[in-house]
Amino acid sequence: MPATKAEALQSFKETIRKIKSYEEALGVLYWDLRTGAPRKGMDTRSEAIGALSGDMFKLSTSPELGEWLSALEEKHAYAELSEIEQRLVTETRKDYDRSVLIPPQLYQEYVVLASQSESKWEEAKASNDYAGFQPYLEKVIAYTNQFIDLWGAKATRYDTLLDQYEPGMTVAELDRVFGGLRAELVPLAAAIASSAHQPDTSFLRQSFDKSAQKAFSLYILEQMGYDFSAGRLDESVHPFATGLSPGDVRITTRYLEDDVTSALFGTIHEGGHALYEQNIMDELIGTTLCTGTSMGIHESQSRFWENVIGRSRPFWNRYFGELQQRFPGQLDVSVDQFYRGNNVVQPSLIRIEADELTYNLHIIIRYEMEKLIFNEGAKAADLPALWNDKYREYLGVVPSNDAEGVLQDVHWSGGAFGYFPSYSLGNMYAAQFADTMEQELSGFWSHVEAGNLLPIKQWLTERIYKYGKLRTPAELIASVTGKPLDPKHLVAYLSKKYSDIYRLS
Ligand SMILES: [Zn+2]
Repeated sequence: MPATKAEALQSFKETIRKIKSYEEALGVLYWDLRTGAPRKGMDTRSEAIGALSGDMFKLSTSPELGEWLSALEEKHAYAELSEIEQRLVTETRKDYDRSVLIPPQLYQEYVVLASQSESKWEEAKASNDYAGFQPYLEKVIAYTNQFIDLWGAKATRYDTLLDQYEPGMTVAELDRVFGGLRAELVPLAAAIASSAHQPDTSFLRQSFDKSAQKAFSLYILEQMGYDFSAGRLDESVHPFATGLSPGDVRITTRYLEDDVTSALFGTIHEGGHALYEQNIMDELIGTTLCTGTSMGIHESQSRFWENVIGRSRPFWNRYFGELQQRFPGQLDVSVDQFYRGNNVVQPSLIRIEADELTYNLHIIIRYEMEKLIFNEGAKAADLPALWNDKYREYLGVVPSNDAEGVLQDVHWSGGAFGYFPSYSLGNMYAAQFADTMEQELSGFWSHVEAGNLLPIKQWLTERIYKYGKLRTPAELIASVTGKPLDPKHLVAYLSKKYSDIYRLS
């Protein structure tokens, strides 16, 4: 007997809520694993994670869910749904189709391969052995190609991969924005490298008390409006943020004894991710829309707080004195020296150590490589040479071995193709949002200079945070800034900031 529309809607919502509960349980287990879970418990922990993930997968690919979706997509039924319900149906349909199109057997094989490939990559990176990793990478690429065939290629094969992380993003669009960015940033980075006014960074290399670093990080989080009754700050090797629900968004950081700002900027970055998740509207709680709308938009929020605010001159005009007080006698430099020392641009080989300007070139290289793999059929064997050529061309540096070249990132070993562009999209979205904020929030920089950061959080909540996944990235950038994504905002921000720091004429 066919379910009535009301029954379908109720069952659909209950299932979504249950999926969300599985996500929360898994989120806590993963958080615990990464923040010091006892090693002896790993085996049963992996089993628990496997069992819960398996149940969640069954729930999210069940034939019943497919039937409820079809019932709700029927024209009259759909028109009667609320805006939130409509978006929930559309999003769930996308995930559902993506999952059911892959035969369970094939997916199982792939999960095993990806985990083997990741551990092989770790070994290969440590021993600079690309040849040892290459057969695994070949297989991961082959499986990914099979998935593209099953999902169906969009305008290009690589478009299908991009859509996983940045819904609606295409190669045509990325070629346009990355092309514009590359054309401006390559000469700007070269001009900076040949400037006679290189900042002094020697004062940054001292031993800085970890507990004082921690106290300052907590203080800045509080200034940003991070809600400690809905989160906590812990330590982990790789900093991360995990949003279990708006009422529980946890972040981690890593304190380096010999670097006074590394943990701080890491904390501000993860704090930016957390503010997004803590301020999603109540109406979305318990639905799969209760999260950031894409990797790129999420990254725009972390990078906005870390770079646009945290690495700005007004921010340090306000907070440098307090930082000095926490490290008596250690930071005996002017605020200008401190600001410049924390904004060094230096073409380098390693993405995760790159500054906010050249970082984008590291990403454009990976984007072009991924296009070559999936749209031009580039072979795994050719990747090291292609990689090195692009580093020479865009950054003027060449890796002396594959460990500091093509082997440096974990992403490809686990099949995360299409993920890298999110990082630079985040920088571009952040600069465009910041330009709008400057126009709409009067006295924006005086607020920063006064340490009055809450109006900024408030503006972001009203315009971005509260919508969660209710708006797509393209809808969000258009509704907030009135225009589609445009790289000129990031280019203008970087040129202005670094022409000043490096005294370029
Ligand atoms: Zn991030």
